[in-house]
Amino acid sequence: MDREVYLDYQSAKPVDPRVVEAMLPYFTERFGNPASLHTVGDRATAVLDEGRAGVAAFIGAQPDEVIFTSGATESNNLALIGYANRAKREGAHVIISEVEHISLHNIGKFLEKSGFRVTKVPPDQFGRIDPDKLRSRITDDTVLVSVGWASNEIGTVQPISRIAEMLRGTGVALHVDAVAAEGLLPMDMSAVPVDLLSLSSNDIYGPPGLGALYVRKGVRLAAVTIGGGQENGLRSGTENMPAIVGMAAAARISAEELPRESARLAAMRDRLIAAVLSTIPDSHLNGHPTERLPNNAHFRFEGIEGESLLLSMKDKGIAVSTGSACSSKTLEPSHTLISCGLLHQEAHGSLEFTFGRFSQDADVDRVMEVLPDIVARLRRMSPLYETH
Ligand code: PMP
Repeated sequence: MDREVYLDYQSAKPVDPRVVEAMLPYFTERFGNPASLHTVGDRATAVLDEGRAGVAAFIGAQPDEVIFTSGATESNNLALIGYANRAKREGAHVIISEVEHISLHNIGKFLEKSGFRVTKVPPDQFGRIDPDKLRSRITDDTVLVSVGWASNEIGTVQPISRIAEMLRGTGVALHVDAVAAEGLLPMDMSAVPVDLLSLSSNDIYGPPGLGALYVRKGVRLAAVTIGGGQENGLRSGTENMPAIVGMAAAARISAEELPRESARLAAMRDRLIAAVLSTIPDSHLNGHPTERLPNNAHFRFEGIEGESLLLSMKDKGIAVSTGSACSSKTLEPSHTLISCGLLHQEAHGSLEFTFGRFSQDADVDRVMEVLPDIVARLRRMSPLYETH
């Protein structure tokens, strides 16, 4: 059996063993509900405060600007629906970039059904959103803009500082889905005027099932989850204490290791990109050549299907992706690649590699041992490639 190689860190990450260790006591002897008034509750409150401070420090925020949620999807729901519903009297227009995660596009459809107008801004061919093009879509009744820090698919990093500066003082709030970039690029809310920022615990090697929404002081939201009033009334439900301890530990480790780890990942990414483009004919890099996540290499191979490539790689023990795991069950081509101007058959021939904390140089070697032969074999069988 071949050694298993996992190059799909964008879909799921293992929890760092150091994080598991930090969490374990909070399942057993250090249990407790922060809402309780007895000593066990007091201790839980202290733990919750510490966890919140830890996550806040990770993004240069104040502790009371962090709301814990169940994950990135819920953070995105609270950000967009919560903000739009609260701001409805000021205006009913929301702008979402075309290269966002499916959760944001579906939230956009929900807002449309609720009476909002939603405009999508297309990227350039590399997946970048131009701040000037974004500005041209703003109207008198625009209340909110949503642009991700980076694409979870093609890895293109957005000019978030420039977009945030462009919106500053306009009265239009900025939401940023930071999930694809967290732990890979530094984020400092004290330096970049973002209003709402979605985070996920698992994306920094913390436990799944927890996320956070940064809400800048003074930015007001309507609650989406109604109940006992936890999390400043914005997200009711008893806090997931072991997971909060885990996310704070994950954030601390991530912040400490980020500069070295991002450089290590970028070196592996660059080696894979150079090897693929120089070895495999009619292969192309999707996304931006330089403004891309340090862990992302996304290719398209003329004349073949990404799905067949993925399955052939799977046979060799290598786990990769054709795009977003969240929409892998549909046969639709990636909306991100189509919005970058690719034809359907080009978008279908794509394969995404994402490196992570436990990736090694040997993983790149293994990919290059098998990928050129797989591409050649599939092309021999492909009527689409005959024309070459
Ligand atoms: N935003 C982005 C950029 C993502 O990649 C994902 C999926 N990992 C989500 C949001 C949704 O995350 P979850 O499914 O964990 O709620």
